[in-house]
Amino acid sequence: MIIAIDGPSGAGKGTVAHYLAQKFNFKILDTGLIYRALAKEALQQGLTTDQQHQIIELAQRITIESTNEDGLRSEEVAAMASKIAVIPEVRAVLNDLQRAFAHADAGDFAGIILDGRDIGTVICPDADCKIYLTADQEIRALRRMQQEGNICAIKVQEMMAERDKRDSSRNTAPLNAAKDAYIIDTSHLSIDEVCQKAAYYVQKSCLPDTMSA
Ligand code: C5P
Repeated sequence: MIIAIDGPSGAGKGTVAHYLAQKFNFKILDTGLIYRALAKEALQQGLTTDQQHQIIELAQRITIESTNEDGLRSEEVAAMASKIAVIPEVRAVLNDLQRAFAHADAGDFAGIILDGRDIGTVICPDADCKIYLTADQEIRALRRMQQEGNICAIKVQEMMAERDKRDSSRNTAPLNAAKDAYIIDTSHLSIDEVCQKAAYYVQKSCLPDTMSA
């Protein structure tokens, strides 16, 4: 069973994914961390975004384990991730990694949740349940600032707006809700309300027998 969660940064994808994973015994892949791991490596090697050949080569060395590295959460790494995420050859390499994970035997887990930008549209168009989370940009920036703590609100908002614009306007796999995704606007909902809605959609799509009448 595959659950796809997409949406812009700060919309609550990670929180919802973890909630659903615990509730339904799913394994999780935060696909943004794959792009971030590559971005961090590129930054460490002093590569710039126009050194595409080297970045594509580097992408081939990224593994699922790379997502466990430290130092992936900063906005600096996120900005680089979104710049290299426009390169179609980089996406092709990282898509293979994500699809292999999505279709691998889930073992003792009931299924797999992938969260990102193009899961429902490109990586797993046949996902059993697709959820697209969104929220007003100021609210998403505020949430991100609360997570990061020591960074200026205006700066976060600017960086997120720039990243959203790049992610939504790129030619390959732009951020988009799949036509058959459930859309949740989290702007004025509590975390609990968002999680309950998402759980309802998962049950409705994947486990209708477990729903009370
Ligand atoms: O989700 P997160 O903010 O960690 O993602 C970092 C960046 O990686 C995004 O801004 C986006 O450019 C890229 N990304 C992507 N496709 C995904 C996941 C992330 O292009 N499935």
